[in-house]
Amino acid sequence: MSKINREWHQSHRMPENPTELQRIAWHAEHARNCGCRGIDVGVARLFRKHGVPVPAPFADPPAPEDR
Ligand SMILES: [Zn+2]
Repeated sequence: MSKINREWHQSHRMPENPTELQRIAWHAEHARNCGCRGIDVGVARLFRKHGVPVPAPFADPPAPEDR
């Protein structure tokens, strides 16, 4: 679960000061294309706040680290 898709990362940089929707879009694409990191609790919360389904493998992070 720690395989990084370098090509994808090189062509999909996170913007400097991303809006919530930009972060959601980036993480949604990332979850589909790369396994280097999961979606953390804070990001999952953003998905739910905007009514976007959290990508399945990361829907319930085991360790709440965002507090
Ligand atoms: Zn990645």
